[in-house]
Amino acid sequence: MAYELPPLPYDYAALEPFIDEATMKLHHDKHHQAYVTNLNGAIEKHPELGSKSPEELVKNLASIPEDIRKVVQNHGGGHVNHTLFWEIMKPQGGGAPTGDIAAQITADFGSFEDFKKQFNEAATKQFGSGWGWLVFDGGKLKIVTTANQDSPLSQGLYPILGNDVWEHAYYLKYQNKRPDYLAAWWNVVNWDEINKRFATAKK
Ligand code: MN
Repeated sequence: MAYELPPLPYDYAALEPFIDEATMKLHHDKHHQAYVTNLNGAIEKHPELGSKSPEELVKNLASIPEDIRKVVQNHGGGHVNHTLFWEIMKPQGGGAPTGDIAAQITADFGSFEDFKKQFNEAATKQFGSGWGWLVFDGGKLKIVTTANQDSPLSQGLYPILGNDVWEHAYYLKYQNKRPDYLAAWWNVVNWDEINKRFATAKK
């Protein structure tokens, strides 16, 4: 059984004007597809791993045979990260957080505005390609970044939300202005899905 590219849960143009249609098409159909294709290529060499979910693979990189470990880290991570990314966005999203995550953000960062500011700063400073993440660790929300396609799961952290700061995520519309992309991105976040992930993280 090969891993498959999940369909985008909305139209390519649905996140306009914050994320443009051309970026979404390339990002989902080409970039995410390439991660899936390359992950499948690696698993073909070790078919016994194919029964594991992509999350299980990246959670336990030390258990992956060395000849494909880096490919699983990069492309398995790419698959897991992008699957999460499409789900935690939606058209007509954004606004203030709702539900349990809203209270936890206020408790751990003071306010949603303070949280956004810290998250955007961390993601702006991530040098080169990578991701900004919100994780729940030791009963507290924390902001972390990872390089390349490294998943927080590989560090034993459960990602609640994540934003892709690879240039392919924003360059067509925002060019070199990563902070503008980061600021706009909050208009498409899906707080319902983020609350679901937060509930899972607390278990
Ligand atoms: Mn990406």
